[in-house]
Amino acid sequence: MDLPILYLVIPCYNEAKVLPQTHPLFLNKIRNLIQAAKISPLSQIMYVDDGSKDKTWDLIEGFSMENHHTQGISQSRNRGHQNAIFAGMMEAREQADIVITIDCDGQDDINCIDQMVAAYQNGSDIVYGVRSNRKSDTWFKRSSAQLFYKLMAFLGADTIYNHADYRLLSKRVLNELSNYKEVNLYLRGLIPLIGFNYSVVEYERYERMEGESHYPLSKMLTLAFDGITSLSIKPIRLVTLMGAFATLLSLLLIIWVFYGYWTDNTVAGWASTYIVVCFMGGIQLLSIGVIGEYIGKIYLEVKARPKYIIAKRTQKEEI
Ligand code: UDP
Ligand code: MG
Repeated sequence: MDLPILYLVIPCYNEAKVLPQTHPLFLNKIRNLIQAAKISPLSQIMYVDDGSKDKTWDLIEGFSMENHHTQGISQSRNRGHQNAIFAGMMEAREQADIVITIDCDGQDDINCIDQMVAAYQNGSDIVYGVRSNRKSDTWFKRSSAQLFYKLMAFLGADTIYNHADYRLLSKRVLNELSNYKEVNLYLRGLIPLIGFNYSVVEYERYERMEGESHYPLSKMLTLAFDGITSLSIKPIRLVTLMGAFATLLSLLLIIWVFYGYWTDNTVAGWASTYIVVCFMGGIQLLSIGVIGEYIGKIYLEVKARPKYIIAKRTQKEEI
């Protein structure tokens, strides 16, 4: 069998501090794998500059001049991590037999790449990198992640536990992925839907080598909402159930009020009325909110705007 051409797709957003440290590690990995005859000499590192405002693009251009295993594309503006890796995967698809997406900050254990490639050789079209523990996370991130996985399982949208976006995809998975036209990207939920053989490789997630995380609470919540709305419509069904429950409760209350009237036991005071009004108001607002989330997503989907626009590419050298 021919050696597979591997593309390492690496999203970078304002990472000028960390890239000089991690780039040599990525490059060594590619070189070692080529030397060990595990991957083709045509393999590449493909950086995706996600509209950085610092010197990230200059660094990527520099790296690509220094050796022919590195290239880069630059998005026209910042579009977020999911769109950045999607752009990289779609751009790599033609040349690559396999793509591995990995963060540029050194958090994902680079040595896992060997195991991922071996798993591909053994017949897996998808290899998920799964964190063996969450030691490097804060208590808050750890518990909110646990809660999210439980919520997803409850909503019937199964995701791979403790897997983020460190994974290998084969060419045929990438080709299938390109047929998914949705704009609201939640790749870790979307890719399991594609099917094919998959396997899992456990890895330790380290601390970021330099710089700061781009995922504050607000972005984490947005990603969680995107995940839920792109994978499940159960929340809308829950709204219907809540509506049914509230209607039933109101019927019982009406019977209770009439019963009081007929038996001369009229309930005094406004408290009960007030509670019911608040309860109903709360349920209605919540329901409108949930339905609104989905309508918002439909609005974005029907416009079908492009998921990425490439503004610059590094000059390709002849190998
Ligand atoms: N990233 C990106 N676009 C963004 C935010 C992040 O391409 O808008 C990249 C970032 O450079 C890194 C990866 O996505 O390679 C993960 O981001 P980060 O390390 O900030 O997230 P965390 O690991 O803290 O969840
Ligand atoms: Mg990180």
